[in-house]
Amino acid sequence: MAGEIIEGKVIKSAVSEKAEVCVIGSGAGGAVVAKELAEKGARVLVLEEGGAYFSKDFPKTIKECFMKLYRNQGFDSTVGIPTVIVPTGKCLGGTTVVNMGTCFRLPEQTHKKWEELGITGWSSKDLEPYYQKVEKIMSVQPVKPEVMGKNGEIIAEGAKRLGYHPKPLLRNVNDNCKGCGNCSYGCRENAKQAMILNYIPMALEKGVKFYCDAKAELIITEDGRAMGVHGSIRDRETGNFRHHIEISADVVVLCAGALSSPVVLLKSKIANSSGQVGKNLKLHLCSRATGVFDQIIDGYKGVGQSLLIDDFAELGIMLEATFTGPATEFPGIAGFGKELWEECKKFRNLATIGIMVSDTSSGRVSVGPEGEPMMTYSFNQKDADTLKKALLIASRILFASGAKKVLTTTACFPKINSPVEVEKFQDLKVHPSQFTTMAFHPMGTCRMGVNKKKSVVDLNLECWEMKNLFIADASVFPTSLGVNPQETIWAFATRCAEHISKNVL
Ligand SMILES: Cc1cc2nc3c(=O)[nH]c(=O)nc-3n(C[C@H](O)[C@H](O)[C@H](O)COP(=O)(O)OP(=O)(O)OC[C@H]3O[C@@H](n4cnc5c(N)ncnc54)[C@H](O)[C@@H]3O)c2cc1C
Repeated sequence: MAGEIIEGKVIKSAVSEKAEVCVIGSGAGGAVVAKELAEKGARVLVLEEGGAYFSKDFPKTIKECFMKLYRNQGFDSTVGIPTVIVPTGKCLGGTTVVNMGTCFRLPEQTHKKWEELGITGWSSKDLEPYYQKVEKIMSVQPVKPEVMGKNGEIIAEGAKRLGYHPKPLLRNVNDNCKGCGNCSYGCRENAKQAMILNYIPMALEKGVKFYCDAKAELIITEDGRAMGVHGSIRDRETGNFRHHIEISADVVVLCAGALSSPVVLLKSKIANSSGQVGKNLKLHLCSRATGVFDQIIDGYKGVGQSLLIDDFAELGIMLEATFTGPATEFPGIAGFGKELWEECKKFRNLATIGIMVSDTSSGRVSVGPEGEPMMTYSFNQKDADTLKKALLIASRILFASGAKKVLTTTACFPKINSPVEVEKFQDLKVHPSQFTTMAFHPMGTCRMGVNKKKSVVDLNLECWEMKNLFIADASVFPTSLGVNPQETIWAFATRCAEHISKNVL
């Protein structure tokens, strides 16, 4: 029997259901687990806090997109110095609906770090079949030259001039991609392969029931074993409580993302005698350098994230040519009034390199005053030094590409006027508070490990202290990945589902 998507607005009274598996969250982890287990014949039900939107009903304005597709309008931020804005998706398909579509396998150096932590069975060889499977379903392929856009092209030229090795990024898109650059507002072309286009329809075919506007509040347990989930049906606009929903299940798989999964555990007061739930928050600190050119670039034409420069991966630095739109490019330009307006007017002449630093800083997710995730994060000097180094490398590339000046995201050198000036900032100490940063990859808050005193889940992603409660999302990563995480989340979720179907159900 085919499954269904049940939206909160059609629910008129309390819901009580039975399933073999209850999955919490329908994003990169949850949708994969649901489809994989349903294909093995399990009766699966998914609770998704956000609403259901497909390309035909994606909002028409950016403001509305942030309101409907993102958690807290995309403005969740850390408490700490500096504040880091951490947007995440809240809708059917989770953050995959609003992400940029960039795909990576885990780099060898991260596997090595994990081995040093005693983690076995998660090497690149072990993950190979899962990566192969998800890459096929998600249509992972290099950015095609016709949609690369001038932003990527001009940055590639500069990088090559300096002897670096730029290459097209891999993305999960089909041939419909016209390079409109609107990935973060929901892909209207059905080109970027968010979960709503593949895993969720496949799960529906196998009978999975998705409850939307359905927030998991607590895991129901008995004698050290997960027995189901208690949740609430919420009004989509106001978030107000409408009805209770209770699912009894043999297995619960928590895939609410690195901000919400720890909150569900903390509120349930389970699986945390290690005290590790919510700790070890990693973010991948992101920043950017923007070159101002004489010629018109129209960086918004072409895929938003197009080109990779990974020559500095060993230093924890990834550079990705990234151009979004005025709503997100302008806030990164320093200045006020007339001066700022003059820079903004040059929008068509800008090219931007996105910077991602594999963070050694750490933070924590706890339960905030309204029962929502609250992040604290201590941005350390080591990461500030790496970020500064990355900004200077990106600036050199932009000058080599022909930029006349470079705008950065640090108050210490908001504008660099020449390649000579870049070198002057080499020895300058920049305090973490002097950066403007965002982060798109929260992870690590229910980390996997071999020692139950230092981790939340074991090597099968089952909670050490709660039988039949698994976690399969970004929260289980033991360290910063160093690369965009979605593909590794799909692979982890596939493997977790395989373990559950072989050994638990
Ligand atoms: C703007 C942006 C661009 C990005 N670009 C890329 C990229 O190019 N490449 C890449 O690899 N990564 C990218 N990412 C990150 C990537 O999308 C995420 O790391 C990934 O989707 C996380 O997967 P997840 O399953 O952990 O969580 P999500 O995909 O966020 O899914 C979690 C789901 O759980 C739901 N949920 C939360 N709490 C509850 C609850 N209590 N009850 C029920 N449901 C709940 C949420 O609504 C959400 O739908 C980007 C992120 C953003 C914000």
